[in-house]
Amino acid sequence: MIFALGGNQNSGKTTLFNQLTGSNQHVGNFPGVTVEGKKGTIRNHPDAALVDLPGIYSLSPYTNEEIVTRDFLVEQHPDGIINIVDATNIERNLYLTLQLIELNLPMVIALNMMDEIRNNGSSIDVQKLSEEIGVPVVPISASKNEGVDELIRVMLETAEKKQRPKRMDFCSGAVHRAIHALSHMVEDHAERLGVPPRFAATKLVEGDGPMMEKLKLSENEIDMVGHIVKEMEQELGTDREAALADMRYQFIDKLCSGTVVKNGESREHRRSVQIDKLLTHKIFAIPIFLAIMLLIFWLTFGLVGAWLSDLLSLGIDSLTQAVDGGLTAYGINPVVHSLIIDGVFAGVGSVLSFLPIIVVLFFFLSILEDSGYMARVAFVMDKALRKIGLSGRSFVPMLIGFGCTVPAIMSARTLSSERDRKMTVLLTPFMSCSAKLPIYAVFTVTFFEQYQALVMICLYVFGIIMGIVSGLVLKKTAFKGKPVPFVMELPNYRLPSAKSVGLLLWDKAKDFLERAFTVIFVATIVIWFLQTFDTRINVVADSADSMLAQIGRFISPVFAPLGFGDWRASTALITGFTAKEAVVSTLAVLTGTNMAGLPAALGGIFSPLAACSFLAFTVLYTPCVAAVNTVRKELGGAKYSLWVVLFQTGVAWIMGTLIYQAGSLILG
Ligand code: GDP
Ligand code: MG
Repeated sequence: MIFALGGNQNSGKTTLFNQLTGSNQHVGNFPGVTVEGKKGTIRNHPDAALVDLPGIYSLSPYTNEEIVTRDFLVEQHPDGIINIVDATNIERNLYLTLQLIELNLPMVIALNMMDEIRNNGSSIDVQKLSEEIGVPVVPISASKNEGVDELIRVMLETAEKKQRPKRMDFCSGAVHRAIHALSHMVEDHAERLGVPPRFAATKLVEGDGPMMEKLKLSENEIDMVGHIVKEMEQELGTDREAALADMRYQFIDKLCSGTVVKNGESREHRRSVQIDKLLTHKIFAIPIFLAIMLLIFWLTFGLVGAWLSDLLSLGIDSLTQAVDGGLTAYGINPVVHSLIIDGVFAGVGSVLSFLPIIVVLFFFLSILEDSGYMARVAFVMDKALRKIGLSGRSFVPMLIGFGCTVPAIMSARTLSSERDRKMTVLLTPFMSCSAKLPIYAVFTVTFFEQYQALVMICLYVFGIIMGIVSGLVLKKTAFKGKPVPFVMELPNYRLPSAKSVGLLLWDKAKDFLERAFTVIFVATIVIWFLQTFDTRINVVADSADSMLAQIGRFISPVFAPLGFGDWRASTALITGFTAKEAVVSTLAVLTGTNMAGLPAALGGIFSPLAACSFLAFTVLYTPCVAAVNTVRKELGGAKYSLWVVLFQTGVAWIMGTLIYQAGSLILG
């Protein structure tokens, strides 16, 4: 059996999905974090599959998510729908419910967030609600795991009995007549298509083009649709979409007035409004945001993260020494010894010691997201983003971009306009991904130890500014036109749940470790090989005679104007294309040191000014292979990914040169 889990954004869908399946998907108090439909099996019921659909407000065909959801429900014929409804926001949530009911599939309503309703002293007459809407309603609290077992029981029972919604006819007046007239007329077409006639008729009244095409109506019938709708519009004096929305909300209002008792404004809401007075203040909002980010960076790089990193690299160093000693005592072949110590331990070890920094940074970011603050920032940023031709919606992918560009680009799918989406995808790589962190950290520690947090922020801001400039250019050239209006509802502030934050951290750590032991591992071995042997596969005495040195020297003149013509720097940048962490591991392997010795070694390769231009270059230059590939998949063309690689590398080279040359002039 297959069940579909559908509901509004931020209604607790992912939380419930995790409870039902026992899986660990990322939860966020941020509309639009679930992009791809996730699949799992319901715990203790291995034969019941559950699909987590994207969060939507309506079943119209306007956004990608709505289309995905619709196609899934209409074409896959799931055995049942679980419609999750946020009880604290019941009117708006039921709007989707009424449309889901029209699909005439077995359905259960999971009335979520009942804990908040209870705490507020509000109440909902679940029995009566269920009777009037004709669908079983189960009150739950997904985050507290209350009522979930009951939900599973009711859901399986409803699906087994194939118990469809008891009523579908929520309409009245002119809309009622139009829907009924059309549903008789298109009955045969709808049946051929496999959709309920009532659903087809409603969509026709709404003016749903794709549905009209799929139904394959005759000329005459299309005329009839036009006439019937026109008649309805004239009678009501509104357009077709408004007519349907009015009709639905009328029904919902009546339903709720008889079943929902609201104890004034909810406490959470009142608190949120209070907090928002400050955090979304006209003048203070952006300074507050910057201050919060500054604090987070300082804590991550200056205090907690750095301390943990030092501790970990101490551990790695002593492990390396122990293994080194053991291998030497055993008298192992020197080449194998070099592979293990100079290759694997130096390379993978140097990257591993950054794990704490990444975990700590994400700890703070996930708290910001989970509390609902990030949604405010998107709202505050809307006006600014609009100036560069984007909307507040684009803030979501951009934000995820600070973690990893790959999911960030994928999350741009939630943008409804093609123009906004393309532009967002092309600008997201300017947000420094977390894999670049090790590079920044090593260089700032080496060259700007006292101002580490500040320089770090400057690097991030530099990337953002370059993104803004590129956005302005794109807006004037390739992407003329206006971004779509920004509609995102601000969720109430919530205390982040330890579980959700913990899960996210575990996810990030796992991801990072996986990369360290796969991509980085292979990259360090390849680098070690190229560095240890010459073209005749003889072990070289000095790595400057190796194959790698030859390749590096061939490319290094390109970077001479940027102040780092050293072959080791250019080689590191090339390996960085496979994964950005590899820049640091390559430098460690090439200079023959470990993390502790790396700063001293870097001091020998870069002047402080060259370090600046190197950092600027790494902020901007091409995203890694995985990200480039995602661009190709998402935008459907190699030309976009080629553009990203060439454009970004070009901009990086120009900025690096500018910084180094201007700096040299000023410093004499
Ligand atoms: P989705 O966008 O629909 O997938 O929603 P999420 O599962 O990401 O949850 C949105 C927010 O609601 C998160 O902050 C959750 O912690 C919170 N949440 C989910 N279920 C409940 C609940 O039953 N009670 C309360 N108080 N909060 C919940
Ligand atoms: Mg979700």
